[in-house]
Amino acid sequence: MPDTVADLRRELAHAYRIVANEGILDAFGHISVRHPGNPQRYFLSRSRAPGLVEPADIMEYDLDSNPIVPPTTRPYSERVIHGEIFKARPDVNAVCHHHAPAIMPFAISGVPLQPVFHLGAAMGPYAPFWDSRDEFGDTNLLVVKPEEGASLARALGKHSVVVMRRHGATIVGGDLRELVFRTIYSAKNAEHQLAAHMLGHVSPLTEGEAVMAGGLNLAPGPVSRAFEYWVRRLAEREGRGKSDSAVRAAEAAARRPNPGAAPAVKASGAKTSGAANKAKKSRGKKR
Ligand code: MN
Repeated sequence: MPDTVADLRRELAHAYRIVANEGILDAFGHISVRHPGNPQRYFLSRSRAPGLVEPADIMEYDLDSNPIVPPTTRPYSERVIHGEIFKARPDVNAVCHHHAPAIMPFAISGVPLQPVFHLGAAMGPYAPFWDSRDEFGDTNLLVVKPEEGASLARALGKHSVVVMRRHGATIVGGDLRELVFRTIYSAKNAEHQLAAHMLGHVSPLTEGEAVMAGGLNLAPGPVSRAFEYWVRRLAEREGRGKSDSAVRAAEAAARRPNPGAAPAVKASGAKTSGAANKAKKSRGKKR
């Protein structure tokens, strides 16, 4: 969890650019994160292409998706997607809405997205559909009214991914890193499912496999390992080097024996921290 709102703005802007760099977001799509100190608020960029989002673009909203500070710039018209999901799902702290090329064949055809390989299990065992036509008839397809966002949140239910007919998908996570991992790997799952379908029979994971593999993928170790890779790829794309502070932090986190724990206290002769001791013990057990 970030220490300050400034850190959170930096992390959220970074997440936009990571997910864009992995081919999920393009000129459109957006990511939000709930305010860690006030669950009735969330953060989202101003209306801007995700690959270009900077910390200064991040705006704060209430759960009715009204900006907290009168905006001097344009907000995303589809921000109710975020506000209404945060209202309906207290366990959700981050949301991504996108129209990734990998997901679109499923959104267009109505063929269900299913977890088809171990890393794809991050999407969860099942992804429901939402069709704006069911409740709203002909619309311009954008989710801009609170009742449209609430309807989408109902279709999402307790799941992690909802596929939006003829539009895209919305993904949720317990935190920003889980969301980024799930967004990237559910899109990869979609690519593999479509490719396998062209070869013939698709044999998806069982529900039990999806739950077990999904839990494993979203553990701190695999998430930190993936983040080091994504952060480095983005830094290279943006012309930042290995010495960039985000790259160094991601590298250090992925190197720790227990990435979920606080960094070990670096001390010669001093007391070792509880977290570092725990990490040592669990390392002994697991390997
Ligand atoms: Mn959209």
